[in-house]
Amino acid sequence: MLRFGKISSVDAVKGLYRVTFEEDDFVFISHDELIVRLRPDHILAVNRVNVLLSSVGLIIKNENIDMPTHYKVFKNEGIGAGMCVQTEYNVKMGGLSEKYDTLFKIPGNKFFKYFKTHILKEPLDRRDLMFMSDGEIAIWNVEDDSVAERLTPEGELSMEEVQSEYPFLFRKLKKEVAGMSDLQVRKAINVFLNTCSTCHNDEVGCHCWNDE
Ligand SMILES: [Zn+2]
Repeated sequence: MLRFGKISSVDAVKGLYRVTFEEDDFVFISHDELIVRLRPDHILAVNRVNVLLSSVGLIIKNENIDMPTHYKVFKNEGIGAGMCVQTEYNVKMGGLSEKYDTLFKIPGNKFFKYFKTHILKEPLDRRDLMFMSDGEIAIWNVEDDSVAERLTPEGELSMEEVQSEYPFLFRKLKKEVAGMSDLQVRKAINVFLNTCSTCHNDEVGCHCWNDE
């Protein structure tokens, strides 16, 4: 695919190049962006890119458009749930050559997992699967995007411990603060428990001596 930026008269481009491109090759057109599909034949693809570039250049010149333009040739390969690996290509006389791959529309907490798998193409390390989630470290499954495991931070009580040791507080928070998830309640109770019960202004182990 080709992407141009900042073109105000995309209809002119489309009109000019109906000969070279089919109607359905024009994948996306907005006031400042034009995406055109390229055929798999690489040598032909370079010709098409050059033809399109010169026509765009002509329109920009003829219409006195005072905006910078840029283009890129890329391929999006879906890897599930709307996420893509985007390959960018160099355009040279001999044909298109792959420049590099980037990740596209990948949520931040899955970045390392997908970067390692699809860009570096290396086996996953446990660290690549970790992300912060409601004050805990969560670990993705390798096979799918479900959470395999959650690690309670050192010095905090786990979900099971909080629920069995502080059932009243757990129920009360769930009731009083509508919409709080169990994970958030676990974190909140741990914050209370790790706060000085005398001054409430520091962590447990505080030297306020207010209790003397
Ligand atoms: Zn204190």
